[in-house]
Amino acid sequence: MPRPIEALVHTDALAHNLERARARAPDCRSWAVIKANAYGHGIERAYEGLRAADGFALLDLAEAERVRALGWRGPILLLEGVFEPRDLELCSRLDLWHAVHCDEQIAWLAAHKTHRPHRVFLKMNSGMNRLGFTPTAFRGAWARLDALPQVDEISLITHFSDADGERGIAHQLAAFDAATRDLPGERCLSNSAALLRHGVKNDWVRAGILLYGSAPDFPEHDIAHWDLQPTMTLRSRIIATQTLAASDTVGYGSSFTAPGPMRVGVVACGYADGYPRLCPTGTPALVDGQRTRTIGRVSMDMLEVDLTDLPAAGIGSEVTLWGRGPGGAVLAIDEVARAAGTLGYELMCAVAPRVTMRVAED
Ligand SMILES: *Cc1c(COP(=O)(O)O)cnc(C)c1O
Repeated sequence: MPRPIEALVHTDALAHNLERARARAPDCRSWAVIKANAYGHGIERAYEGLRAADGFALLDLAEAERVRALGWRGPILLLEGVFEPRDLELCSRLDLWHAVHCDEQIAWLAAHKTHRPHRVFLKMNSGMNRLGFTPTAFRGAWARLDALPQVDEISLITHFSDADGERGIAHQLAAFDAATRDLPGERCLSNSAALLRHGVKNDWVRAGILLYGSAPDFPEHDIAHWDLQPTMTLRSRIIATQTLAASDTVGYGSSFTAPGPMRVGVVACGYADGYPRLCPTGTPALVDGQRTRTIGRVSMDMLEVDLTDLPAAGIGSEVTLWGRGPGGAVLAIDEVARAAGTLGYELMCAVAPRVTMRVAED
């Protein structure tokens, strides 16, 4: 028997979360952002739940090919555009729309031979200072693109740095509006946080993390607040139990000392499965759907959980590290991420290849 750990993808929850995005932006088209192998869920698995999207946005050309191989004939957007001139051949062949964020990409387009002009998304650096043309350079870039026979429609895109936080988006929105006011073309501004928190709706929204059942602004709001459902469950089983007396310690470094008699369960899940080693004692976990906590340090292949108040639990008990537990219990990935000092994004992207991942049946 293989180790009992596995990851499940809930396609019904993906569809539900996409519907939530649509309900908040009813007159817009929605990109489903499926970069990073659909935030770790697997493009092919996520596709089953996200078919109702208006298009798929991603970064990697190989991932774009996989989406076309699934039979998707609708829009696909390369969020970072092409990385070298010959990538444009694939864009022509597979009808990929692509971001244009730098002068080099314009020059490559100008030299590209194609029968089919490309739909491009001209990217503004409205303050994040990652990709895009500054507001001052934007119009010049637009005019150069507009003059190219290789270019069909030009849409306008920018990305917010603080849609989930205190600083907000007003400064970037103002910079974008001022520089684009009289330019034609569809607009595409919102990520999950801008859509949920600021209600920014343009021609296109870019829904990422919200699709995957993680709140972009946790802990200020949780997935229940935004009516989102977990799309990934990481679960395993208890493979051993130990009974502790007061002052016994648990795990490497003896970081946990029992204050009194306790029972702990050893779970077949460790950092080599993608569970963060940084999760301290007290990180939530579910055993047979009951909430408990981790104890001691996470090791490579195992971690331990407190069974003191769960006398019925023992070898074989189901442990939910995050996601859906038995009996309708839910442990949001955001809670575990927070315990590790990170975000749901990172955890879902980091489930290790040795963990079998499959679409949940129910
Ligand atoms: C990843 C990404 C998104 C999606 O962001 P979320 O916070 O996951 O909603 C949107 N736009 C761009 C350019 C991205 O790279």
